[in-house]
Amino acid sequence: MDKQQRMELRRQAGYRDLPKPQTKEKGPEYSLSYVCCSCRTSNMRQYNLEPCHYPKSIECPICKGVAVCVGRHFKPPKKSDTAQWKKVEYLIEHGFMFQKIRPVKNCYDSVPYPETLAQAKDFVVKYQRYAVKTPYNKAIKQD
Ligand SMILES: [Zn+2]
Repeated sequence: MDKQQRMELRRQAGYRDLPKPQTKEKGPEYSLSYVCCSCRTSNMRQYNLEPCHYPKSIECPICKGVAVCVGRHFKPPKKSDTAQWKKVEYLIEHGFMFQKIRPVKNCYDSVPYPETLAQAKDFVVKYQRYAVKTPYNKAIKQD
């Protein structure tokens, strides 16, 4: 093994020492967030199921309306933050349930979600083909 190979091995070993992303789930349990845009609440739910079999929506425990699944990565805005909630609602209506959007094939880099409602309006157009269809979406204009 020459010096270059050894350096390469050390480099690869070093990569493995990078801090692992913090995850909260323990064992097979897996919490997903369900968000209700009417009362601006987010509820975590765990089921003894594969995450892909989790219900897409649940009854909101507060208003008995529909709380939709927004996955694991959703961070609810403050209840008083109307602008942020409008953005969240807009994204959900357009099929962006805070799923990861990875436009580059075989690349795990995902697109960051928009920070404002104005950005969200461009976002839903730009990433339209990643929108998921749910009964809660408003029809996406296709032409
Ligand atoms: Zn509700």
